[in-house]
Amino acid sequence: MKCIVWFRKDLRLTDNPALLEAIRLKADIIPLFILENHNRWQPGGASRWWLHHSLADLNSKLEGKMVFRQGKAASILKELIVESGATAVFWNRRYGPEDIAIDTALKSELQDKGILVKTFNSHLLFEPWEITNNQGKFFQVFTPYWKKCIAQANISKPIPPPPEIQLLDYTKNSLTSLNLLPTQPDWATGLRQTWTPGEAGAQERFDHFLGDLKGYKGNRNRLDREATSHLSPHLAWGEISVRQIWHGIYAHIASNLAIETDALTFLSEIGWREFSYHLLYHVPTLPQQPLKPQFANFPWQENPSAFKKWAQGLTGYPIVDAGMRELWHTGYMHNRVRMIVASFLIKDLLLPWQDGEAWFWDTLVDADLANNSANWQWVAGCGADAAPYFRIFNPVLQGEKFDPEGNYVRRWVPELRLLSNDFIHKPWQTSSIKLKEAGIKLGSTYPEPIINHDKARLRALEIYKSLP
Ligand SMILES: Cc1cc2nc3c(=O)[nH]c(=O)nc-3n(C[C@H](O)[C@H](O)[C@H](O)COP(=O)(O)OP(=O)(O)OC[C@H]3O[C@@H](n4cnc5c(N)ncnc54)[C@H](O)[C@@H]3O)c2cc1C
Repeated sequence: MKCIVWFRKDLRLTDNPALLEAIRLKADIIPLFILENHNRWQPGGASRWWLHHSLADLNSKLEGKMVFRQGKAASILKELIVESGATAVFWNRRYGPEDIAIDTALKSELQDKGILVKTFNSHLLFEPWEITNNQGKFFQVFTPYWKKCIAQANISKPIPPPPEIQLLDYTKNSLTSLNLLPTQPDWATGLRQTWTPGEAGAQERFDHFLGDLKGYKGNRNRLDREATSHLSPHLAWGEISVRQIWHGIYAHIASNLAIETDALTFLSEIGWREFSYHLLYHVPTLPQQPLKPQFANFPWQENPSAFKKWAQGLTGYPIVDAGMRELWHTGYMHNRVRMIVASFLIKDLLLPWQDGEAWFWDTLVDADLANNSANWQWVAGCGADAAPYFRIFNPVLQGEKFDPEGNYVRRWVPELRLLSNDFIHKPWQTSSIKLKEAGIKLGSTYPEPIINHDKARLRALEIYKSLP
């Protein structure tokens, strides 16, 4: 039997059920990747960079026999079936609303043509439809959702990588034909310095993180400590499976009970990822529309200049600017700062959360439709289990709490590096003598705050309170 294994968000050999089922059936395998350029949520710039390198890694493990195509998935698959004489197509499931529509239609069309189609779960611990509340409905609050998941958890062991794969050669186009890398200009230097996309890079991150797991609970919000796993882009592209993580963590707890609390806190973050997928599946409009209908007519401002300053890290609030510059340079931002910059955009500047979501989509290497939209809605207060409307992050206090010595700010906003710890998060309150000593001229070497936070906070509270 000739079988096409269609890789999507599962760029790995280990614990890849679609691939392993094709091997189990002793099929001759055609490994395929399609860059679907008709879909709304195509990978943004940073994700394309990641995707290129991840595919290069996978292709090298598949003896350079991956087939790379670009266009509409349905036409490409049908074409390849005719060309190769394949009688089976296997894939691992994905959960974006558009993806589900494409896959469902394709599955029935191919089955009607007598093609064997098999689909699997490789991306999640729990299928989004598996977990329901006592009324049989989907959960909108995280804690009971995760409790139910844990109670129901019977997570199968990850399947080891196959010793041998029987591959067919239908390559026509090389990976470079997908044009995933930036060229003019090549802005990816910071990404190259920060990341190793691919299965080995993912495993290395995970192993390294296991060694550092102690203290995760206490340190995960600290911006000046490397306390979190940085697994998000590897998970987004499926270079490591969430089942590998689950079992890896439990094996680690068994060998070292002292890390149990940290480990369970970490797994609950993985739980937020599951919850986001649960929400996206049940609320397909999550990426565009507020989950709470009373937010539909929110009086957003129009202010392209403020948006640009936010995106470029030139708001005059050091913690916001540090986060936005970290994002631009590395394609990543610490979770705490994501919340701070998102709150600033939405509640201080009153700019639509969808604009921030789109910027993140383009610039994050871990851009993930479920996680990104659920979290933007969470910060805006219009999502499930969302931050209450009166929770408006104060960028100065947040900086002082989570970056007490200002090291994170000094790293990403080097023009402030000579400011003392007392003022690093509020340079506009520094005396002119101290500013001069630090070589700072506000409004020239570093911006004045683009908005007064205290006034902006009151303005936002008024609006939020007046919502129906
Ligand atoms: C406005 C905003 C937008 C976000 N956009 C994305 C996105 O596009 N892609 C993305 O993967 N995460 C997103 N997050 C969630 C979170 O910030 C990142 O997952 C996390 O910072 C990744 O770092 P880490 O792997 O070191 O996390 P760790 O603390 O090591 O957590 C382990 C894993 O758990 C998951 N996770 C952690 N926190 C969350 C969360 N709040 N929601 C959902 N999953 C979580 C991630 O898969 C992460 O890799 C967003 C958060 C905010 C506030």
